[in-house]
Amino acid sequence: MDQSANPAPIGWATSSPGMTAAIGHTPLIRLRRASDLTGCEILGKAEFMNPGGSVKDRAALAIIDDAERRGLLKPGGTVVEGTAGNTGIGLTLVANARGYRSVIVMPETQSQEKIDFLRMIGADLRLVPAKPFRDPGNYVHVSRRLAEETGAVWANQFDNLANREGHRATTGPEIWAQTAGRIDAFTCSCGTGGTLAGTALGLEDAARAEGRARPRIVLADPEGSALYGWVKSGDMSISGSSITEGIGQSRVTGNLEGIAIDDAERIPDPEALDLIYDLLLHEGLSIGGSSGINVAAAIRVARQMGPGHTIVTILSDGGSRYQSKLFNPSFLREKNLPVPAWLA
Ligand code: PMP
Repeated sequence: MDQSANPAPIGWATSSPGMTAAIGHTPLIRLRRASDLTGCEILGKAEFMNPGGSVKDRAALAIIDDAERRGLLKPGGTVVEGTAGNTGIGLTLVANARGYRSVIVMPETQSQEKIDFLRMIGADLRLVPAKPFRDPGNYVHVSRRLAEETGAVWANQFDNLANREGHRATTGPEIWAQTAGRIDAFTCSCGTGGTLAGTALGLEDAARAEGRARPRIVLADPEGSALYGWVKSGDMSISGSSITEGIGQSRVTGNLEGIAIDDAERIPDPEALDLIYDLLLHEGLSIGGSSGINVAAAIRVARQMGPGHTIVTILSDGGSRYQSKLFNPSFLREKNLPVPAWLA
């Protein structure tokens, strides 16, 4: 029988695009208490719903797609990356789906949950001592050298513009469509800057196409990062520290270059943690540290702008990735942070 005369329904498995089709298209969730408190609409893009559990699945897919298009990555090839963990998870899952190997270099200070998950999904994991970027032993430099020595593809998420282009093509347009263009501000923290920069560019593209004003772009920065000072005054000195993972930066990455950032908020850990616990207990949302920083900044921006505005932020990953830290009384006590009542 001629099968072609009776095609399968659209979306049926005859030409399934595989797991990468599940990356992105995340819901935009109204944060009820933050919205009610400020009289604004505060909305969180649920990036923890990606297959690898974080916003970094988007960057991983964009970087691998780009390396394939350039002919750098061939069947059986290897991708190497230095990461706080989430990019490593995304890259490894996409590599598994496409028939590549992954070598993941990560500072040993990152959460045990991310380490365990990377091992579980088959990454060749190399833990290294945490060192500043200027030190040759820093995980980013170790990963670059490993790629050079082995002839593997170096994902180079910090300076590889495929990272922000992935967000420009997906995260930005998704948010524009989900808000019907009614977005007054976007707040976002930065590790590589890919999410902030690419989403900002995508929103700007969409606004321009409709002859509308682009939303205000506000950096959400943890203590111990140089970017707040860079945006506010150009002074990139660093003070303080944060228990959040995957965010904070000591330099202007390639992905951040040339991006119009209107303002910045520096968020202390206790302010972010309060929101993380509150969203969990009152709205059923389990989010990680960087998401808490992002929501805190959205609330500050809402207060500055006044009622009636719509502010969008990123819920970068989920709380279960940090059970042993953010939700662990002994860890919190060790860091002199308050232990929430229900965990005490
Ligand atoms: N939040 C978390 C949990 C992350 O792992 C990362 C990536 N390191 C970010 C935020 C920052 O994203 P980006 O690299 O796009 O700036």
